Amino acid sequence: MARLGMVIDTTRCVGCMDCVVACKTENRVPEGFCRDWIATETRGTFPTPHLEIRSERCNQCDEPPCVSCCPTGASHVEPLGHTVQVSPDMCIGCKACLASCPYGARFIHPDGYASKCTFCLHRVKDGLLPACVSVCPTRCMHFGDLDDPGSEVSRLLASRNHHALLPEAGTGPRVFYLI
Ligand code: SF4
Ligand code: SF4
Ligand code: SF4
Repeated sequence: MARLGMVIDTTRCVGCMDCVVACKTENRVPEGFCRDWIATETRGTFPTPHLEIRSERCNQCDEPPCVSCCPTGASHVEPLGHTVQVSPDMCIGCKACLASCPYGARFIHPDGYASKCTFCLHRVKDGLLPACVSVCPTRCMHFGDLDDPGSEVSRLLASRNHHALLPEAGTGPRVFYLI
């Protein structure tokens, strides 16, 4: 069973936002909301600080508080790719999952249910890459099975320095940033 993850090379990201536009288009994300976004952070220390540009989204956590706090089971772990998903018809819009996510990855869709990045599971089922990964002009986004030591994402993590966001939150994020 694959455990899907994303590895993004921050040294190649130019902040063009093509990934954001592709996601909004592919997933019909309503006006005023987004499932992925670009963040910037100054990292490193004097005299060699640098500006890190990151494409961020739901981290598809291994220990997702958004799932354990959901009172209806709408938020769940999907067997395919071990990804965190939401069943809109089971969601009562209580926002418990929004409050529990340390990454601010979720929003309430105007139709009343919790929404977020799905790793484009509808595309992955058809053998396609997530929309964001497929359009990135610098090819800095990589996607695959973290449990397969021979996958591109595993080989990149084994060979390059990297970090994940808020590891201290204990959620086991599965989006990694090469530095
Ligand atoms: Fe960075 Fe690629 Fe997104 Fe452009 S499409 S902002 S290069 S991750
Ligand atoms: Fe849940 Fe937030 Fe982790 Fe995504 S990033 S799995 S919404 S806790
Ligand atoms: Fe579950 Fe929906 Fe409430 Fe989130 S808003 S905790 S998905 S019922």
